[in-house]
Amino acid sequence: ERERIFSLTAAPWSEGGAIVTLIDETEAHDAERMRSDFVANVSHELKTPLTALRGLIETLSGAAQNDAEARVRFLAMMAEETERMHRLVSDLLSLNRLEDADVVTRNDRIDLCEIIAAARQSLSDSAAARGISIVLEGCHEPVPLHGDSDQLRQVFNNLVENAIKYGEENGTVTIAVSHEKYDPLLRGPAIRAAVTDDGRGIGQEHLARLTERFYRVDRHRSRQIGGTGLGLAIVKHIVRRHRGWFRIASQVGKGSTFTVLLPAD
Ligand code: ADP
Repeated sequence: ERERIFSLTAAPWSEGGAIVTLIDETEAHDAERMRSDFVANVSHELKTPLTALRGLIETLSGAAQNDAEARVRFLAMMAEETERMHRLVSDLLSLNRLEDADVVTRNDRIDLCEIIAAARQSLSDSAAARGISIVLEGCHEPVPLHGDSDQLRQVFNNLVENAIKYGEENGTVTIAVSHEKYDPLLRGPAIRAAVTDDGRGIGQEHLARLTERFYRVDRHRSRQIGGTGLGLAIVKHIVRRHRGWFRIASQVGKGSTFTVLLPAD
């Protein structure tokens, strides 16, 4: 049982006594702390690329002004920092929309395999850059379900992108899709899609927190790789909106599996 926070007020009462009011403010206090943590995180994430940009602009307008080679190099670094900020703001907007109860999640009849294939295609260059091959299993025929194709594409984009980023160089990323007649968690037919990498894996102590915004196992490394720290939080929200389940299993040194379970028709 955690410690609770109360506020106490006393007002005089006509009979000569006093009315004492005790209010439990634990929840309000938690919400306020979460909000201020979030603002601190966002500010920090934006400040890092901004500081880098400021330094680069200073150098460019000074010493590097007449050095064509340095100019090209600095501009490329500025483009990278700008891209980082752009990704962060896009992810923040996505997350904000997903948390807005008024924003609808479409319920179209779609083919999950088509969505996964599109995500794989859009990431083929970054996979090739690390020598990683992406294997897709269970997609010999369409896998129909009801859902929002843009949102589900984002789910597999994020998961496969992570598998490429954190997977072993020259390794394999496997996306396995299967249909379950009856899934005990969903209490009905389900589509299971699991993204597995053979990377460094994630320690058990981190697993439960991975879907928190800005939670990273290795902050420095993730930032270097170019992550926003919001990818898995977005995945969790989208899967929840589809009334599905999201599970992470991992073994340090062996790799990780991120499983999405969605209700089937
Ligand atoms: P990021 O943008 O930093 O990748 P995510 O929310 O997508 O943010 O992931 C959160 C953290 O989880 C990452 O920073 C990384 O530490 C860890 N992580 C995610 N996917 C994997 C994976 N496939 N293998 C190992 N670690 C992972």
